[in-house]
Amino acid sequence: MDEITKLISGFRSFRRENFTDNRSRFQDLVRRGQSPRIMIIACSDSRVDPAIVTGAEPGDLFVVRNVANLVPPCQGDGHHHGTSAALEYAVRSLGVAHIIVFGHACCGGIRALVESGVESENGEPGATDFVGSWMEIARPAYDEVVRAMPGAGVAEQAAACEKLGVKTSLANLETFPWIASAVAAGDLHLHGWYFDIVEGALCALDAENGEFRPAEDLFPLA
Ligand SMILES: [Zn+2]
Repeated sequence: MDEITKLISGFRSFRRENFTDNRSRFQDLVRRGQSPRIMIIACSDSRVDPAIVTGAEPGDLFVVRNVANLVPPCQGDGHHHGTSAALEYAVRSLGVAHIIVFGHACCGGIRALVESGVESENGEPGATDFVGSWMEIARPAYDEVVRAMPGAGVAEQAAACEKLGVKTSLANLETFPWIASAVAAGDLHLHGWYFDIVEGALCALDAENGEFRPAEDLFPLA
């Protein structure tokens, strides 16, 4: 149970160092409610917590995390769409000004997609209850990778697919009518980021040329 008591101990530290010292900030957030300016869609991967990576504070980020930081296309089919529900709340109720799709290196979900492609080529499709069909959202990215680099190994294809998957999710964001209209009105800005956990680098998608560049180049620090 050490892994659980570590969390309790961590909470005690948080309460002492963050909550107590910033009591007025928390009380303010409770009284006025949250009004984050930024929504982040990140992977569930335990290594890529966007709040930790960006040094964000309580109240700063509205976050949804799922396998491989994917945004599904808008589908009003009455099924349970957790990510789409979070998007709707962030955009229509909270009125966030930015949505960041937060991709990352060494993504297990993307790797599973690439490996399933290799397995199906070999006639050995992998079977999952939910992950396989969820990862189909990134299929257009994978297909593009296979076309562009057919002879590359799994690791190389996966790395390319992680970045293209961010672009696929950005395109899917625009299929939600209230996102497309907010973007067109200039009230909402969409961003693609990529956190390289090997190099410890943060890159951002340059809309000018479709390339990922160091985030500080696109957003210079004051
Ligand atoms: Zn991931």
